[in-house]
Amino acid sequence: MLLSIVLPVYNEQEVLPALFETLPPVLARIDCEYELIFIDDGSRDTTRSILNAAAQQDSRVKVLGFSRNFGQQAAITAGLDFANGDAVVVMDADLQDPPELLVTMVEQFKQGFDVVSTQRITREGESVFKKATASAFYAFMRKAIDERLPPQVGDFRLFSRGAVQAIRKFREQHRFMRGLVAWLGLRETIVRFHRPARAAGETKYPPWKLVKLAWTAVSSFSAMPLRLCLTAGIALTSIGLAYSAYAIYAALFVKSTAPGWSSLVCIQLLFNGATLTAVGLVGDYVGRIYDEAKQRPLYVLGDSVNIESSGCAHRVVWINPPDSALNETPHIYRLDAARETVGRTRRAS
Ligand code: UDP
Ligand code: MG
Repeated sequence: MLLSIVLPVYNEQEVLPALFETLPPVLARIDCEYELIFIDDGSRDTTRSILNAAAQQDSRVKVLGFSRNFGQQAAITAGLDFANGDAVVVMDADLQDPPELLVTMVEQFKQGFDVVSTQRITREGESVFKKATASAFYAFMRKAIDERLPPQVGDFRLFSRGAVQAIRKFREQHRFMRGLVAWLGLRETIVRFHRPARAAGETKYPPWKLVKLAWTAVSSFSAMPLRLCLTAGIALTSIGLAYSAYAIYAALFVKSTAPGWSSLVCIQLLFNGATLTAVGLVGDYVGRIYDEAKQRPLYVLGDSVNIESSGCAHRVVWINPPDSALNETPHIYRLDAARETVGRTRRAS
């Protein structure tokens, strides 16, 4: 059995030495071959050279280098695209996802589950704000968006090969992997664990990034915000109507208004409400269609080490891919910087 471990990394130079000390001994306890696929998500520190050095010493260490920061969700997608394992585990590089749990996860996989998820019982080293917003987020998602989304389950998961192949089919731009997994409805089991604090370094998720991810989660899985917008528009229009009735009454019976004021107020309130509703609705739809219609690749690969080709049947833009990838994988494109052309994979012979 081959076990692939997918690790998205972004500016993790402080924690990588600890990871390389901790992970291999645990994997040695599991009766399987393994590969570590690191996705360097456009790091600007020495992460890349640490990874390259490890990959040069051990061919089981593979590095996919992104051309810039595309975000953790895109990095996970790339890892799943390039993983060859019978089982694939996605985990953070900061040791908050304890490697020891891999033993139990593989045992569960061998029982026949397609997805082995992990649920955080406690979360160490996180601010009260983060814990509170995380709880609120899961509660809201389960109530309003999708009740299949298990609470306190992050991206630390094991997938069977079949599950990975199914997930690869989803190429939407606005990605929330946890939602996709819940939506697929695969055979899933949950392993619970205490989440330790980061081994070193700092979180790569400042509050604004968390809000962005939460919004992606909501908007890519539900049209509920659009309906809310419609509801707000209707409420505004109703208030407008009520106030209009009052304005008409005041003009006709109380005579306390300047001429023309009542009709102006009515028109303003009615049309502002209706216009906001329409613009909100159309704007959101158009934005989403616009993003998807461009059909841009979800990430762009730069230099990569020990990676030969993608088992993924999707378009991958890969700057200077290795020869093996050029010859074997028809969906890999070449960006030839010297000639400023973007061409198909086939090389001029
Ligand atoms: N990460 C990434 N790209 C990003 C942000 C984060 O690849 O733009 C990686 C990061 O290096 C780590 C994992 O995603 O391996 C989770 O990030 P982090 O530990 O900062 O998130 P937290 O645990 O604080 O929610
Ligand atoms: Mg972390």
